[in-house]
Amino acid sequence: MTDKLSPQQRSAVMSHIRSKHTRPELFVRKLVFALGYRYRLHVRRLPGCPDLVFRQRRKVIFVHGCFWHCHANCSIAHLPKSRVDFWKFKLEGNRTRDEENRVDLARTGWKVLTIWECQLRNVSHLERRLRNFLDEER
Ligand SMILES: [Zn+2]
Repeated sequence: MTDKLSPQQRSAVMSHIRSKHTRPELFVRKLVFALGYRYRLHVRRLPGCPDLVFRQRRKVIFVHGCFWHCHANCSIAHLPKSRVDFWKFKLEGNRTRDEENRVDLARTGWKVLTIWECQLRNVSHLERRLRNFLDEER
């Protein structure tokens, strides 16, 4: 199967997908809010500018798009069919940065939970994970 979009169109689509307040992120925010937790958004002075920040608990949550963050062994993280090298380079860079951010956060005493886009399908499981993570004693 070939990519129906031109490289320019593909770039436009991808940069749109990439923007903040993505659908997976909004979904997780609503769920966390409904569970009764309060948080701050996109705290820039923390490594990786985490999506949800729970300052008192010293915990952060990242919501990662499977494509953009190169989710390993994930069916929705496939590379585009055109400009494969470009995307590979770019997406692997994202993954490396994610890892560095996680290490930096852990070193300064933050607990990190990463939620992947493909994990949003099972809401009750996700709820359990969120509660376990946020209620866990430090
Ligand atoms: Zn995934």
